[in-house]
Amino acid sequence: MTNTVQVVVIGGGQSGLAAGYHLRRLGLDFVILDAQSTPGGAWQHTWDSLHLFSPAAYSSLPGRLMPAQTGETYPDAQHVVEYLADYEKRYGLPVERPVRVLGVHRDGELLRVETDSGTWLARSVISATGTWWRPFLPAVPGSSDFDGRRLHTAQYRGPRDFAGQRVIVVGGGNSGAQIAADLAYDTELTWVTQRPPRFLADDIDGRALFDAATARRRALDASRTDTGGVASLGDIVAVPPVREARDRGLLTASPMFTRLVPGGVEWTDGTRAEADAIIWCTGFRPALSHLAPLQLRGRRGHIATAGTRAMEEPRLHLLGYGDWTGPASATLIGVGRPAREAARDIAALVGPFL
Ligand SMILES: Cc1cc2nc3c(=O)[nH]c(=O)nc-3n(C[C@H](O)[C@H](O)[C@H](O)COP(=O)(O)OP(=O)(O)OC[C@H]3O[C@@H](n4cnc5c(N)ncnc54)[C@H](O)[C@@H]3O)c2cc1C
Repeated sequence: MTNTVQVVVIGGGQSGLAAGYHLRRLGLDFVILDAQSTPGGAWQHTWDSLHLFSPAAYSSLPGRLMPAQTGETYPDAQHVVEYLADYEKRYGLPVERPVRVLGVHRDGELLRVETDSGTWLARSVISATGTWWRPFLPAVPGSSDFDGRRLHTAQYRGPRDFAGQRVIVVGGGNSGAQIAADLAYDTELTWVTQRPPRFLADDIDGRALFDAATARRRALDASRTDTGGVASLGDIVAVPPVREARDRGLLTASPMFTRLVPGGVEWTDGTRAEADAIIWCTGFRPALSHLAPLQLRGRRGHIATAGTRAMEEPRLHLLGYGDWTGPASATLIGVGRPAREAARDIAALVGPFL
């Protein structure tokens, strides 16, 4: 079965929906193809205690404010899933699921999108597939020697799976700090970070981060000095559970170990820690394998972009993966602006739908 549309959006998480909102406003003919069976993107798969680092009003997609969650300043992941499900229904966004895109190919004037349920031909494609689906695990000597459980942030659900166990959490970012805080009470926890953890001031949450990202964008747009943006503030948002564990002295970090050994890990000086499980909170990479046929991969697996548009394939836009596709574009509140720019750019390329 071959379908023809003006635009195919790949991915029906928040980024794909924000794109859909603006494509609809501009009157373009499009479809959103999403590999999940149900709405919500990656938010459906996060650990149980995850809460947003911003209040609901600062976590909204274009057009519709996220409602507050009763009793919670910072909404939980299930609340986000419900918001996204409501969002796509409210705007009647044409999401097809589950449809997994296998490859995007050049086909004369068009791009051909091959999926596990048919083929779409389009004038333009927006890739909005996120990062959750490509966990990053660093290469560490002795990996095959460790005989305990090993998992990544993407597989972690909650402390009940580890009660009473010796657990090593690796990673000094938000996921590492939050999962360490989650495990600090019921496990024998070792938290390992590459450099000493950098907590943001307690009064800084996602609102301030977004303001910092916006100030940076404005400074760069006006060719003023780079303000350094979010990274200049620190790495870890002191969300309430992190703050509480830290204040109780439960979140002290050890430096990174040098190798894995049977039953645990070892530091340079020969010190060892035993572990039943190691949880790698070491980040994600953009999920871009479906774009491989276009042969656009550049440094660090990123595709070079001007705004959201791929430099070497102007019919392709990338949305939501990180700052390289627009400041704060991998956040709920930040994806609206690059989504609007992508939709406008595509409208100029393909013209109105007749
Ligand atoms: C632990 C964690 C906490 C975060 N906390 C916050 C926060 O508090 N506030 C905030 O604003 N942001 C936060 N973020 C960042 C960001 O908002 C999320 O990562 C968000 O899920 C990104 O949305 P997305 O739509 O870009 O990607 P995703 O949510 O991953 O959605 C991508 C969709 O594309 C689909 N897909 C992937 N590959 C294919 C394919 N080949 N074919 C078809 N479909 C495909 C996926 O199945 C998925 O449905 C957090 C991120 C993480 C990892």
